[in-house]
Amino acid sequence: MIRKEKRRTLIIASASTALAASLLGAGAAQAAKPEQAAAPDISVDAVQKDLKELQSVAEANGGNRAHGEPGFKASIDFLKKKLDDAGFKTEVQEFDHGGATGYNLVADWPGGGSADETVMVGSHLDSVGSGAGINDNGSGSAGVLETALAVSAEKLEPKKHLRFAWWGAEEQGLVGSQHYVDSLSQDEVKNISAYLNFDMIGSPNAGYFVYDDDAAVQKVFTDWFKSKDIKTETSAEVGGRSDHASFAAAGVTVGGTFTGAGDTMTEEQAKQWDGQAGEPYDKCYHSECDDVSNINEKALDLNSDAIAHAVWELSS
Ligand SMILES: [Zn+2]
Repeated sequence: MIRKEKRRTLIIASASTALAASLLGAGAAQAAKPEQAAAPDISVDAVQKDLKELQSVAEANGGNRAHGEPGFKASIDFLKKKLDDAGFKTEVQEFDHGGATGYNLVADWPGGGSADETVMVGSHLDSVGSGAGINDNGSGSAGVLETALAVSAEKLEPKKHLRFAWWGAEEQGLVGSQHYVDSLSQDEVKNISAYLNFDMIGSPNAGYFVYDDDAAVQKVFTDWFKSKDIKTETSAEVGGRSDHASFAAAGVTVGGTFTGAGDTMTEEQAKQWDGQAGEPYDKCYHSECDDVSNINEKALDLNSDAIAHAVWELSS
């Protein structure tokens, strides 16, 4: 997630959101959806293993996975191989930023419906220059990766098309995701029925936040967490500070989850989430100590499962 001073102003069209929610509600009442299998449980051990791999990538490349540095391209290569082996159609999109080549990795699942209705799931893969970037944002990247691999393992044939993406140069100001959105035609933008973003899902002093940009998408997450006895909140902290802002600015419906960055947990939240009041959600936010020890495994596990649930639910 980018620093506060770099945040993009995000204007939420509340009227259209409310309309979309009411249309969705009406549709569900009139025509019951066909039964679909529930999303599988995502193995937190597999997610943790990916984080260890990303840590190794950083250590082999000067300690970081930042835009323009060799550790970023090595991170892209690591994910691409896993997705290619699982049967995804992958593409590495290149762009220039600040005199360095940046990369986005886009992976389309060949099973399921046509791209006229596409559900996109993304996370930024770059770290800042000062560390391995394991919570920010190895965590979201690994949770999205394991969800994509679960789609392959289950040979999912969803009604909608599924596309996964890992963005470059997010920490430079959402550069990779903006480049991707700019590369789409107006029709291609319209075909994205939702974009889900996951940036920091394993914060050590974890909050359980759900993006509030779209009521219907928000409910998919809040209901799921409620079923696990976890009360979620919306977060003023995330705002326009991650790649969903590039999509929202183009009029795409967005959603996602977040476990908090440098802001401080309140007393009430600490009671609710068994956390430390008065401490930041992530004391290693954008610091060298954002390594594999900087992860709350319970939050990582729950949010990874929540990603899979939302993908199954929204693509069916
Ligand atoms: Zn960040």
